[in-house]
Amino acid sequence: MEEVLTFCCPSCLQHSAVTVSLMERRQRLVEDCQNCCEPIQIEIDVRDGAVVRFDYRLAN
Ligand SMILES: [Zn+2]
Repeated sequence: MEEVLTFCCPSCLQHSAVTVSLMERRQRLVEDCQNCCEPIQIEIDVRDGAVVRFDYRLAN
C-alpha cells in the first residue's frame, strides 16, 4: 500500500509530491524537491493504513 502526499517545498515554495509506503507505522525519509532539488526531511505516522501525521522541513 502506498500513498502520494503533496507538500509545499519550504525552499522554493512550489508544490511537490512524495510517494510513501503505508506498511510502517513511523517513518523518516529524505526526499529531494522535484523543483529545486533541496533535500526535504519528511516524517510520517501511519495508523490503520492511513497517514495521521505528516511533517516536513529542510533537511540541512
Ligand atoms: Zn523546492
